[in-house]
Amino acid sequence: MRDATQCVHHPEVSQEGYASLAVPTHRASTIVYPDGEAFLHRAARGVDGYTYGLHGTPTTRVLAEQITRLQGGLRSLVVPSGQAAISIPMLTLLVPGDRVLIPDNAYPPVRTLGAQYLAPRGIEAAVYDPMIGAGIADLIDDRTRLVWIEAPGSGTMEVADIPALVTAAKARGVLTGCDNTWATPLLFKPLAHGVDIVAEALTKYAGGHSDLLLGSITVADMDLYRRLRQTLSALGIGVSPDECALALRGIETMAVRLAHCGRVAEDFARRLAPLPQVEKVLHPALPECPGHEAFRRDFKGASGVFSLVLTPESDARLQTALSGLRVFSIGASWGGTHSLIAPMGLAPPRSTTPWPHRGPLVRLSIGLEDAEELWEDLAGFLARLAP
Ligand SMILES: *Cc1c(COP(=O)(O)O)cnc(C)c1O
Repeated sequence: MRDATQCVHHPEVSQEGYASLAVPTHRASTIVYPDGEAFLHRAARGVDGYTYGLHGTPTTRVLAEQITRLQGGLRSLVVPSGQAAISIPMLTLLVPGDRVLIPDNAYPPVRTLGAQYLAPRGIEAAVYDPMIGAGIADLIDDRTRLVWIEAPGSGTMEVADIPALVTAAKARGVLTGCDNTWATPLLFKPLAHGVDIVAEALTKYAGGHSDLLLGSITVADMDLYRRLRQTLSALGIGVSPDECALALRGIETMAVRLAHCGRVAEDFARRLAPLPQVEKVLHPALPECPGHEAFRRDFKGASGVFSLVLTPESDARLQTALSGLRVFSIGASWGGTHSLIAPMGLAPPRSTTPWPHRGPLVRLSIGLEDAEELWEDLAGFLARLAP
């Protein structure tokens, strides 16, 4: 081979005896075929075959299969973000004239998707009270195609009665989808409770280090999987194998991280509850959290994210108090090794269920720092809120 050709063609080296514990990062746009026939008939390779890098490489497939096993599903799709894991099912299942039901405590961009994208295209996104339970039956009409679920709700932490929502939807032949980002499949498996579609932001606990963006969609039905895949390929959506490799690495430590963060967060939640600057701790493991019974019945435990409603008087000193934090960082997109605090404003966006509190809401994500040092940082924060 002449030099310029050699530059393009990598030498093949032996892989014999090479056994590594790491998942190799396979990057590809082009997939090459043994002959012209094979190329012409590439569609016959089916959904699990390799035809084009956008539709998967062995690295993205290992991640998808890992998620499928953890969720107890049939197939998973890896998408560029958690928000894409929510929007893709909606764009797949809903056409003009249809209706989707979204909980009042959903991840806020889901409301935006409904109001700014679906509604102008003739798809109604109706908002329901997340504590409605079996009463959801009254909101399901002939146009309803999907009931979206998120538990606990973003920021406000109410836990929906998922089996009741699923039973009512199934009775009308309506599909259900559940955003399971907070719990991860380690603490709750929506498919085992009859949910049809599980969406998760791998950005959070799976990635685990605040440095990647990915989402996953898991289903237990092959036809549904094919339909979702068609949407991805029609819209030209794929993911980077480098990010998938990072997510696979993150998942290796997820069980240990989640157990630690969950234990410290629950301990903090109980210690924070009686403090004078705290009006209410929003944590599903506390009996006063709406849906606490459903949480105890359905979930294996809590992850490391919960919220505080502070007293109305503390709002004036909130920004100064936040600025004095030394260990906690201020920011969103939780689930990493660094503890985070995010001021969420005075009231969450609500359409059907009035928010009963007047004080500011802050969300905490507990990371892996020394727990007592974190507690001292929080204690200092609360002390700065006092008059
Ligand atoms: C962060 C988050 C998402 C979105 O994930 P991105 O990867 O940031 O798009 C979706 N749902 C919930 C509950 C989240 O917390």
